[in-house]
Amino acid sequence: PVSKLPHIGTTIFTIMSKMATDEGAINLSQGFPGFGADPVLLELVANYTKNGFNQYSPMSGIPGLRAVLAEKTKITQGYLPNSEDEVTIVSGATEAIFCAVTAIIEEGDEVIVLEPAYDSYEPAITLNKGIPIYVPLNPFDFSVDWDKVKDAIGPKTKAIMTNSPHNPSGYVWTKEDVDTLAELVQETRIYIISDEVYEHITFDNRPHFSLGAHQDLRDRTFVCGSFGKTFHVTGWKIGYCIAPKPLTLEFRRIHQYVTFSTVTPIQFALAEYLEVPDRYLSIPAFYERKRNVFAEGLKQTELEFVPSQGSFFQVARYGHLSKISDRLLAERMTKELKVACIPVSVFYSTKKDDHLIRFCFAKEESELQEALERLKNLQ
Ligand code: PMP
Ligand code: GLN
Repeated sequence: PVSKLPHIGTTIFTIMSKMATDEGAINLSQGFPGFGADPVLLELVANYTKNGFNQYSPMSGIPGLRAVLAEKTKITQGYLPNSEDEVTIVSGATEAIFCAVTAIIEEGDEVIVLEPAYDSYEPAITLNKGIPIYVPLNPFDFSVDWDKVKDAIGPKTKAIMTNSPHNPSGYVWTKEDVDTLAELVQETRIYIISDEVYEHITFDNRPHFSLGAHQDLRDRTFVCGSFGKTFHVTGWKIGYCIAPKPLTLEFRRIHQYVTFSTVTPIQFALAEYLEVPDRYLSIPAFYERKRNVFAEGLKQTELEFVPSQGSFFQVARYGHLSKISDRLLAERMTKELKVACIPVSVFYSTKKDDHLIRFCFAKEESELQEALERLKNLQ
C-alpha cells in the first residue's frame, strides 16, 4: 500500500529502550517508572478480575470512574465536569489525543504545535489531513514565546496542541501562560487539545493549571490525561478526555470505533482507588524527591541543566563538551557509559540539534545513584 506516514519510523523510545536492554545499560531513556505501583491498587485489580468484572465496559467508561475523576478535577482544579457527558475513559492519553484531533480536524486545517513536541501529535494531525504549524518554544527554558504563537494564528488555524507539564523539558505553564492563551483565542473558534498527562508531577509548589479549568477556555478544550503516568502503570494504557458536551459527543463518535471501550477491571479498581485523594495529592512530593536526587547528582557531572519544574524528565546540555550529534551521543552513552537517554532533536519537526539529551528520573533512588556515578565519566 501507499504509506500514509512514509516519514515515520520506529519511535526513538523503542529504539533506545532496546539498545539499553541489548547493552545492559541503565535505562533512563523511555519514560516509564522503574518501580511498582501501590500494592493496594494491584490488589484491587486482582480482585475485580477474579470477581468477574471482565466483560466490555460502557463505551464512555464505567460511571463510577467517570464520577470520581470529575470529583478529582473539582478537588485539584476547582471545577466539576459533568461526569455523564463531559468525561470519557479511553485506552491511554495517546488515544485521547488521536480521537480529539480526529474529531475536529478536516483536510487543510492548520494545527499549531509547540515544539519540541511529543511524537504522537504530528501523525494524528497528518492522518486527518491537517497541517501542523510548528512554533518553537524559547531555547533556554522552553517557556512559550507568545508573540510567535500569535503570529502563527491565521484564518486556517483550527486547533492548538498544548502540553504542560512539558515532555521533554519539564516546563510548567504559569497562570500568565494560560491567561495569555485564553486572550489570544478569545475572538476565534480555535480548539485546544491540552495534553496534561503529567498533571500530578509538578515541583517546588508549582500548581498545575488545567486548561479545562479556565472559564474562557473550557468550552473549546479537550483535556487529555493518563492514569498510567499518575499511578506508575504505563503498561495499563488507560487515560481520559474531559471536554464540554458538544466536543465530547464528537470525541465519543471516534472513540467508539477506535477502541469502543477500555479495560473493565482496571476501571473498577481505579474508581475505588481514586476515592482517597491523598493517593494523587501525594504524587508531587514523591517525584520531587527523585528530581532532587537526580539534580544533585547531575551537578557533580559535566552536564549543564536547569532543574526540571515538572514531569519525570530532566533535560541536560552537553554542547560545551562535544559537538557530536545528540543521537550519536545517546548511542555512545548507552554503549560506553551504560546509561541510556533520549536525544532531544527527535522532538523537533526539523530534527534541530541543540546538543540536548533527556533523562527519565522515574526510577528507584539506587538506580539513579548508579546512573549518576556513571555519568561522572562523561567528558
Ligand atoms: N503525552 C505525553 C507528553 C507523554 O509523555 C505520554 C507518555 N508516553 C503520552 C502523551 C501518552 O500517554 P499514554 O501512555 O497514557 O497513552
Ligand atoms: N511518553 C514516553 C516518553 O516520552 C514514551 C511512551 C512511548 O514509548 N510511546 O518517553
